[in-house]
Amino acid sequence: MGDPVLHSVAAPVDEVTDDIRTLVADMFETMDTAPGVGLAAPQVGVGLRIYTYSYQDDEGQPWRGVLINPELWMSPPEPGSPDPDDESEGCLSFPGERFPLRRADAVLVTGTDLEGAPVEIRVDGWRARIMQHEFDHLNGILYIDRLSDSDWKTTQKIARKRGWGKPGHSWMPGVDDLDA
Ligand code: ZN
Repeated sequence: MGDPVLHSVAAPVDEVTDDIRTLVADMFETMDTAPGVGLAAPQVGVGLRIYTYSYQDDEGQPWRGVLINPELWMSPPEPGSPDPDDESEGCLSFPGERFPLRRADAVLVTGTDLEGAPVEIRVDGWRARIMQHEFDHLNGILYIDRLSDSDWKTTQKIARKRGWGKPGHSWMPGVDDLDA
């Protein structure tokens, strides 16, 4: 949090080159090591419209993939306050914290995969939350930007205390002992 690449709109991918394939392989490795359920390219310092995701549902069914140049549509979020137990999320770019956030229950995401083939994903529940969170990253939005005023103030206090909120901070999954 604080690095400009995390707070800027990412650029579309023109062509899937070997560099992009290497980046995506690295993102899968970083996401799995973190561990995280999703990772957007801006989180590893690359301002491109790419994110990976990986999630196992209650039945242990794996669900993972990569989206290049995604577009997202969502159902209107239910009015009301989020439930801290069921609707809290975290972010590898604001590690070690979780805050409640109301999200749309269902999304449709389109884009392409690494081979340039069209991808269409219709999901709800936690998968829909992951899609919204990662898609936000491509538009320079962190989930903390969407919190209630009081939670947002709390995040700013945390950031000040830890010296975040300015460029130059990073952590290396698998190397730095950071409980994200
Ligand atoms: Zn995040």
